[in-house]
This record gives sequence, C-alpha cells and structure tokens, in this order.
Amino acid sequence: MTQIDLSIVLPIYNEEESIPALAKELPAALDAIGKSYEIICVDDGSRDGTFAALKAWREQDDCVHVIRFRRNFGQTAAFAAGFDRARGDVVITMDADLQNDPADIPKLLAKMDEGFDVVSGWRVERWQEGLKSFIVRKIPSATANWLISKTTGVYLHDYGCSLKAYRNEVVKGIKLYGDMHRFVPAIASWFGVTVAEVPVKYRSRRFGSSKYGAGRIFRVLLDLMTVRFLLGYSTRPIRIFGAWGLISLLAGFGAAVYLTILKLFYNVQLSDRPLLLMAVLLMVVGIQLISMGLLGELIVRVYFESQGKPIYTVREEL
Ligand code: UDP
Ligand code: MG
Repeated sequence: MTQIDLSIVLPIYNEEESIPALAKELPAALDAIGKSYEIICVDDGSRDGTFAALKAWREQDDCVHVIRFRRNFGQTAAFAAGFDRARGDVVITMDADLQNDPADIPKLLAKMDEGFDVVSGWRVERWQEGLKSFIVRKIPSATANWLISKTTGVYLHDYGCSLKAYRNEVVKGIKLYGDMHRFVPAIASWFGVTVAEVPVKYRSRRFGSSKYGAGRIFRVLLDLMTVRFLLGYSTRPIRIFGAWGLISLLAGFGAAVYLTILKLFYNVQLSDRPLLLMAVLLMVVGIQLISMGLLGELIVRVYFESQGKPIYTVREEL
C-alpha cells in the first residue's frame, strides 16, 4: 500500500442531492493544497440515490473510495469504517451535507504542522439571530460542550463539529462504540495527544434534513458517562465502585450499631424506626457496590490481557 498524505472520511446517510456539489467542491479544495489524498465515502445504508451518486463520482475520480454498509449503522460506525481504511498520514473527517466548508481544510493542516495531534473545527458563527435559535440550539449546545469539556478534561468549544483532523495513529488506536464519534478528541486524550482548535465556517444545510432529533441529548449524556468512566477508571474500577460502596457500608453499619445500642441498653422499640430500613439498605448497597468493583477489576484484567492492550502509551524511546 502506498503512503498518502490525506484521507478524508465522509459519513453519508441519505444525502443524494448533496453528493454532486460535494464532488465538485471537495476535490477542488484538496487539489489546491497540493498533497496526495484519498476520499473515503461511507454510505451508511442510505435508502435514496446516494450510492448511485457515489458510484458515479468514483467512476470520474479514482481518489474516491466508496464503502457501502448493508444497513444504517450510524455515524459512529461510518467514521470507524473510514478510520480502519484510512491510509493518509492525516485523517480528516467532515459531514457530507456541505455544512462544513472544504476550504477550511488548509487551516486544520496548518495547525497540525505546528505539531498538534488532533485539530478540531470550531463553528464560531453558527448561530442565527433570534430568540428561538438561542433557546433551542445555542443554550443546549453550549451546555453540552461545557459539560463534555468539564467531565473529560479536554476543553473544546465545539464537540459537535465534524470537521476535524487527526494523525493516523490516533484514529487507528481507538475503538468506537455507540454514538461516540463526537468524543474522539476526549477518548484520544487517553493516549496523551495534543489538541487544538481552529475557527471554521458554518453553512446551513442546502439539501435534505438533519438526521438527528432531540433524542440525541440523552444519548450524548449516557455516552458521556461511559467516556468519563473509561477515561478515569478503566484500569481501576474498584476505586469508584469501592469508594461509594465503603461509604455506604460504613454509614449503614454505623446506623445499625447505634440502633443496636438503643435496643440493648435503652430498651427502645425498633419496629417504628425508619433508620433500621435505611441501615439495612445502606449495608446491602455497600456490599453490592464493592462486589461490582471487584467484578470490574476482573473484567478489566480480561479486557486488557486477552487483547494484548497496553495500559500505557510511549512517545519515544532512546
Ligand atoms: N450520518 C450518517 N449516518 C447516520 C446519520 C448521519 O452517516 O445515521 C451522516 C450524515 O449524512 C451527515 C453527517 O452524518 O453527513 C452529519 O449528520 P447531520 O447533518 O444529520 O447532523 P447535524 O449536522 O444535524 O448535526
Ligand atoms: Mg449536518
């Protein structure tokens, strides 16, 4: 396999109208950069003419590589398929709906040349004027970005922007599940990568409609919990489960001792004491949490050892 400079990865689901415009705009922008490139189009089980349009594009331009999924597996799976096949030194992801501007790619590359491993686009002027857009789009998005930044420790203004650039080894090292594509910079931070941000243009959708609804909020929250757990505790689950388990167990035990003393020495009736229920509950929950932590420790060993996964990454060795 020959080495090339850039791989562009495009997740595509029912975007037939956008493909012809993209097929003009993207290669033009890439040719202007003057580096070798490939364009990996992942058709995520589209049910419209997307695949035919991609096939036509591929026939004109052999830099284009088309992967067609059997059904709709989601944007994360589409990115993963592209990452698996990417041969370029730098892998660039973007939306296929023309909302990202290919003319911004040189800006990302310039940042990569400064030595960053991950460069994320930041759609600075994304917000239309008006109260409605402020309430339904700006507030949720700003909250999500703040929350993700806080919990993962990787501060970005715009996790949702698909236009991002990664060094090849960064995307090859990570496995994506669920809806995790937006967390790639955070997941990659586990490797100790350097992350930068570059302002990019935002354009509103010209064709078709967004593939996501409000359900995205819950998925993002749940995925965020998973990412936070994996980043912080994937090699030591007992620390989080065990800590809470111990607190619960000790609190329950303390309450039980107190009630026992009341009963034995002061002859107090315990049948109408809600604290009794509380004490039992806290002890049971405590033991369960500690057991979960221990099970977690076993699973972690199986996970890392069965797949030969390292628990560290090395930058260089002299
Ligand atoms: N997409 C995909 N599979 C899906 C949903 C979306 O490959 O199940 C693609 C879609 O074709 C587009 C990109 O992911 O290229 C972003 O989707 P969309 O524009 O709907 O998201 P939004 O811009 O509204 O956040
Ligand atoms: Mg879009």
